[in-house]
Amino acid sequence: MSELTPAQLHQLQTSLTNIRKEMEQQLLLGKTATDTVVLDQSAIGRVSRMDAIQQQSVAVTTRDQTLIRLKQVIAALLAITEDDYGYCHNCGETIDFKRLEVQPESRLCLACQSKADAA
Ligand SMILES: [Zn+2]
Repeated sequence: MSELTPAQLHQLQTSLTNIRKEMEQQLLLGKTATDTVVLDQSAIGRVSRMDAIQQQSVAVTTRDQTLIRLKQVIAALLAITEDDYGYCHNCGETIDFKRLEVQPESRLCLACQSKADAA
């Protein structure tokens, strides 16, 4: 597998930057969603409160997942600036551009990812 061209690298850097912006926006909105329950507790009945708590836990799960991905995206952006991007963290091989296009924050090549998923 060949290394990334400067144009490919630039494309991935752009999409990582966009993903980061989107996720930061999501986290801001998510914060509002998790704060809502506190307000609801005094104002509404028991059933609605249960609903609100359930919605809050969904919001928290989503936020956690977003935070994990955001960390990976930031790490990938840092790796680009350090000229260390696009290499598998497990075997050191270059990661296929097509895979990075779909998931630019990937840290593992497809082979290693498959093994990690199966484990
Ligand atoms: Zn690998």
